[in-house]
Amino acid sequence: MIRRSPPARLTRRLRAAKEPIASPDSARANGQRAVFFDRDGTLNEEIGHVLDPQDFRVYPFAARAVRLVNQAGLLAIVVTNQSGVGRGLFAESAVRRVHRQLTRRIEAGGGRLDAIFYCPHHPEALVERYRVACSCRKPAPGLLEAAATQFGIDLTKSFVVGDRFVDITAGRRVGARSVLVLTGVGRKELEDEESNGIAQPDHVAENVYEAVRWVLGNLGNRK
Ligand SMILES: [Mg+2]
Ligand SMILES: [Zn+2]
Repeated sequence: MIRRSPPARLTRRLRAAKEPIASPDSARANGQRAVFFDRDGTLNEEIGHVLDPQDFRVYPFAARAVRLVNQAGLLAIVVTNQSGVGRGLFAESAVRRVHRQLTRRIEAGGGRLDAIFYCPHHPEALVERYRVACSCRKPAPGLLEAAATQFGIDLTKSFVVGDRFVDITAGRRVGARSVLVLTGVGRKELEDEESNGIAQPDHVAENVYEAVRWVLGNLGNRK
């Protein structure tokens, strides 16, 4: 049975209070833009479900990538599927702990994440309250849309960076441009015949840092 999905969860609003963002209305008028980062395999090593936060490893170049986005004046937002919650593998508190770790690692490298959105659902989740065909599990675009509403983002002027075709597809559905990175499962995804022809990325990059360099070089170009 398909139920109406609960709203996407925002784990943390990371921008300091003394540095308020523009109101959604004025931001939309200003065409607020964002780079949406997938988490696993994009900012940190892909190890499957992160059962133990000790095993969580952020790529050394991830903070530099985020910092470039900050410096360019775009929002840096993480959007991640964490169905391990629904599957009963770990609690949402564990996801938040990992996200505090991610935030600290990025900050230690001089970058700043504006927000992290995650989807805890799965259509066949063991935990009943997460068992929904939700609108936020990528490739559904719900996390992107929730961020857009909260921050007044123009998704058609924004970018999605990820290592799976579900990331690319989510971006495509809202008119954002996308970059597939070859870290995580990216290289395998690209080689997988079945993935081809679904939704092709606008660019393929070695890693998230190179992806951001491409994004910043293509802010004005729409192909
Ligand atoms: Mg990934
Ligand atoms: Zn969801």
